[in-house]
Amino acid sequence: MQNICPTILTNSPAITPCTILEHPWFRKYQIKVWVKHDYRNHPTIQGNKWHKLKYNLQQAIEDNATTILTFGGAYSNHIAATAVAAKQMGIASIGIIRGEELAEQPEKWSHTLQAAKQQGMALIFISRQQYRLKHDAQIVQTLKQSRPNLFIIPEGGSNDLAIKGFDELSHQIQQQVPNWSHIFCPVGTGGTLAGLVANLSNQETLPAGQKLLNREVCGMAVLKQANYLLPEIEQWIAAHSSKKPICWRLEPNAHCGGYGKTPNYLRAFQHRIENTFGIPLDPIYTAKLALAVYHQIRNKTLPAGSEIVLLHTGGLQGRAIAKSLP
Ligand SMILES: *Cc1c(COP(=O)(O)O)cnc(C)c1O
Repeated sequence: MQNICPTILTNSPAITPCTILEHPWFRKYQIKVWVKHDYRNHPTIQGNKWHKLKYNLQQAIEDNATTILTFGGAYSNHIAATAVAAKQMGIASIGIIRGEELAEQPEKWSHTLQAAKQQGMALIFISRQQYRLKHDAQIVQTLKQSRPNLFIIPEGGSNDLAIKGFDELSHQIQQQVPNWSHIFCPVGTGGTLAGLVANLSNQETLPAGQKLLNREVCGMAVLKQANYLLPEIEQWIAAHSSKKPICWRLEPNAHCGGYGKTPNYLRAFQHRIENTFGIPLDPIYTAKLALAVYHQIRNKTLPAGSEIVLLHTGGLQGRAIAKSLP
């Protein structure tokens, strides 16, 4: 019998707040800005990682999985989230981590890796070359044969079940800001962007007598040359949209030098936003999101009258780690 953890699967996450930001600057540009505080849903299985894992964990239980295997880099929030979820469900977990050099140097492990290990995740470090093969890497083949009840979740947690998992969040945003014109989210793999677009499209209903608003979901890529993500994002959206998808776009110039690069101007901007609005950000995703949106407002890319929602996807486990561990 599987040990199903009620806090993970049977409790849906609480409705997280969505608050309007007050600043003279926004009035000057005649736009309204909301933040959807989705990071408040869980300390570690935080923000978008919760939504992506939800149906995957359910499927793992239905499949009688005894081990969850997944992939990530040394700073992967998805690795941290999966380790916690698996532990709470009483299922073993294995993380295939990019970078074989780390195997011999635990003193160089990130907080994320240390925390995953403490949660009981077995970490296997492989070369970048093997990592590129992902599901076909030698070690994964071997594990598949030796452990028949293995449930595999791709890198970043993004797959069809993950896309479906953005149903509740999309509904919440729709209820909280019914007249939104733009929703912005950070993009790593694009699963979150696809999940929002597909579910918002499916839930789109025109209030009686109201004009169709011009709406767009915009993903801010935190890595360089992100356009390679587009075909997969398009596939996810097509597979999950029962109606014509609403407009969406991937913004490729929000990466500040590349994935995991956090130049001083980004850190300074992050602190300014944190101090002004009292909202904690992470430098890898949400600070880059905020900076890219700031530029769009300043460049008047967003027309007067826009009502925009910034999705705070989480990523705070790196700073909260010391407090959240048992
Ligand atoms: C993983 C992560 C993302 C990226 O989400 P994708 O669905 O992979 O695009 C964005 N924000 C935070 C905080 C994350 O941890």
